[in-house]
Order: sequence, then C-alpha cells, then structure tokens
Amino acid sequence: DPRPPLLTVEDVKVHYGAIQALKGVSLSVGKGEVVALIGANGAGKTSTLRAVSGMLKPSGGKITLAGQNITGMKAHQLVPKGMAHAPEGRGIFPNLTVQENLDLGAYLRRDTEAIAADQEKSFGLFPVLKERRKQMAGTLSGGEQQMLAIARALLSRPQLLLLDEPSLGLAPQVTETIFRTLRDVNATGMSILLVEQNAHLALSMAHYGYVLETGEVVMAGKGKALLESPEVRKAYLGE
Ligand code: ATP
Repeated sequence: DPRPPLLTVEDVKVHYGAIQALKGVSLSVGKGEVVALIGANGAGKTSTLRAVSGMLKPSGGKITLAGQNITGMKAHQLVPKGMAHAPEGRGIFPNLTVQENLDLGAYLRRDTEAIAADQEKSFGLFPVLKERRKQMAGTLSGGEQQMLAIARALLSRPQLLLLDEPSLGLAPQVTETIFRTLRDVNATGMSILLVEQNAHLALSMAHYGYVLETGEVVMAGKGKALLESPEVRKAYLGE
C-alpha cells in the first residue's frame, strides 16, 4: 500500500459482550484522502468508526494516527490530536442552541479570531444554521441537525473527520448540499473516513473504499474501481 497513511487500522477486533462485531479489520486513510466504508446493515461500519474515534475500546489490534499509537485512547484524548467524529444519530445536544453546539466544537481552541472566521465559513456552507443559531438544536429538522453535526465537527479543525451515515433520512437536495461541502473541505486537505449506506454516493467521491461484510473487509480498492466492480454493483448498487 503506497499511500502515505494518516490513519492505520490493523487487525482491529470489537466485541459487544459475547458478540464479535469486528473480526480483525485492517484499513488505512491517506493524508488528504476521502475513504469510504460500505457494507450492509450490521457489517460493522459503525463499530469501526467507534473504535477509531475512541467511543469504544477494541478487544484487539492496533490503530495509529500520524504514526502515533492511539489504540484504546478515549474520544476526548483524540480530539486534541485532530480527530472529529460526527456519529450515527448525530450526537448534537438537543437542549442547547445551535450556537452553543457550534461553540462546543471549538472548545479546545484559543484562537478566538480564527474561530469566528471558521464559524462564518460554516454559516456560508450552511446558511440555515445562521438563521437558526438561537434556536434549540432539538427543534431542527433531521437535515439541519446533520449540517450542525458536521459544522460542529469542522470547527475543531480536524485533520481527520469521521462521518457516520451523513445522508441518512435526508432529502436528496440536502444530501447533495452536504456532499458538496464535504468535497470542499476535503479540497482544503482534510482527510475523511466516511460510512455511508448510499454506496454510489460514497464511492463516487471516495479516493479509496473498503467493503465490509460480517465484521471483515472483503474488498478494497479505488472508489472508481469499486464502483465499476461487478460484485459491488450486484451487492450494493442494486444491479
Ligand atoms: P448499521 O448500518 O446497521 O449501523 P453497521 O455496519 O454500522 O450497521 P455495526 O453497527 O457496527 O454495523 O454492528 C456490527 C454488529 O455488531 C451487528 O451484528 C450488530 O448487531 C452488533 N452490535 C452493534 N452494536 C451493538 C451493541 N451495542 N450491543 C450488541 N451488539 C451490537
């Protein structure tokens, strides 16, 4: 694998009690890449992201970020190392305002002026968040909550952004806005590890992709190559 890695996941195993969700997953995300994880419900995509972001502790294997061993570190230890996770279910605080949720994204930063500039950028990407900044986050629509989760993650200025199902439950136009934004932030050099039910959407924008089945990587390749692969087309693109 000649891609210079930002993130490496080597033979990672995850158990929930007696259930083994990951049987030894290996993958990597190169600097500046978008990498997609696709697979059916229950294949282990969310568990992989949770293990990477420190939301759960793997029962085996090794994870490195920029060459540093981060295996078993907790989420709050990984944020200062440049990792941000917009989790499944979005993870926003419904009883805080949009503005307060955004402020939390930048809680580790002290560069007040740059934070303000980044926030204006988020409002440029998602103008509806500016209109609703004094509103409780729990009153936003699903699409708006997803935008808020992404905007909040971006405000920590991560080098690696983890996204779980950004298109879930969203109207096609909202999904399009979100994916356009992801392309833009990736163009600034931010790496993205993306879990997405919509395999076509994910592989179309991904430099590289992995297919998970029952806790294992069964296929890997460039996004385009996977899009064109007969197996992927049959199993995940409904052909
Ligand atoms: P989905 O798209 O449905 O979220 P996924 O590919 O993200 O699926 P995971 O959520 O990682 O898959 O689940 C992998 C396996 O682990 C599944 O068999 C699931 O039932 C199981 N699992 C996930 N979370 C738990 C949990 N908290 N307790 C017990 N089993 C779990």
